Amino acid sequence: KRVLPKEGQMAKIKLEHVYKRYGGKVTAVKDFNLETEDGEFVVFVGPSGCGKTTTLRMIAGLEDITEGQLFIGDRLVNDVPPKDRDIAMVFQNYALYPHMNVYENMAFGLRLRKVHKDEIDRRVKEAARIIKIDHLLQRKPRELSGGQRQRVAMGRAIVREPKVFLFDEPLSNLDAKLRVEMRAEISKLQRRLGVTTVYVTHDQVEAMTLGTRIVVMKDGEVLQVDSPLNLYDFPETKFVAGFIGSPSMNFIRSRVVTEGEHVYFTGEGFKVRANPTLATNLRAYNGKEVWMGIRPEHLGHKGWTPIPEDNNVVRGKVEVVEPLGADTEIHVDVMGGMVTAKVDGHAMVLPGDSVELLVDTSKLHAFDVDSEKAIG
Ligand code: ATP
Repeated sequence: KRVLPKEGQMAKIKLEHVYKRYGGKVTAVKDFNLETEDGEFVVFVGPSGCGKTTTLRMIAGLEDITEGQLFIGDRLVNDVPPKDRDIAMVFQNYALYPHMNVYENMAFGLRLRKVHKDEIDRRVKEAARIIKIDHLLQRKPRELSGGQRQRVAMGRAIVREPKVFLFDEPLSNLDAKLRVEMRAEISKLQRRLGVTTVYVTHDQVEAMTLGTRIVVMKDGEVLQVDSPLNLYDFPETKFVAGFIGSPSMNFIRSRVVTEGEHVYFTGEGFKVRANPTLATNLRAYNGKEVWMGIRPEHLGHKGWTPIPEDNNVVRGKVEVVEPLGADTEIHVDVMGGMVTAKVDGHAMVLPGDSVELLVDTSKLHAFDVDSEKAIG
């Protein structure tokens, strides 16, 4: 059940050809285009410096837009000051006032806006109940744990009853376990409140678990906008393929060889048959080199039993074995390049072993070596 936003309060965010340049030299964001759904949870993800924070800050109004248009709801807000945009932002450093207790911290912004005392009280108590900090209202920030402070920061955003939530790496100051817990909390809370949300992170796992849609950025440009599973299954570039998924996809330089109706990825010690869909698109590359992409979880451990047909295995020498319990990651030297495979946690593999890794050919990817775009 949705709590916020009240009738007529939902908002789409639309960015049209948005650019950010600093001092005419640095282009931090290039031609950013996005239209969210009402109540959608969108995550911006990418390596450090890719422009995700700058984009979020432009939506918040904390940074000018150099070129392009930004809409919140139906309103063009390029020149609207932050306080009039109906947004609430949660930062990684919480920015709580140390001398005020939790109640006062949450009430502060509303007081500035001259909201009536009874209304403030109602909103603070409701928000406190939603995020389960009712019992902490009289405490000062220093008397709270990191996770509790993060909750208060969210509470302060909720009481504003905004049309849009903006999160800038809100979990990066928490330890690993708390981060996972708070991630689930934020996800639940956002679904309950139904407020359009934009969330910035450099952590692809956080992006995958939180976003209904993910915007992958690199060097100021949007590379792909898609649902988590589509990004994983159908990456459009080698960069996205390598960035989404952990451990990363393996890329093996291969030559395309066509034999009758079949198309193969070939290299020293391997010949892997492309599945029919990929084969259609790979034909044009006959005799040329491409990147064969295969995720660690799609490489099986064949042990030492020689398999009759010489197809669909990659051979190499195990260099590192990392047992993780349920599965084990093995790092295998294949013709001087390292390949990671995720195998059964109880597979008997030791460093120095020669292994044959069975490729799940239905899960193969191919990328052009020049453009690094997906083939097909
Ligand atoms: P991070 O995760 O490290 O914060 P990011 O993806 O959020 O990275 P931004 O902070 O948006 O990246 O920065 C994008 C680019 O713009 C970077 O190259 C950065 O150096 C540059 N940049 C940011 N702010 C300014 C500024 N005030 N003046 C000049 N360049 C800037």
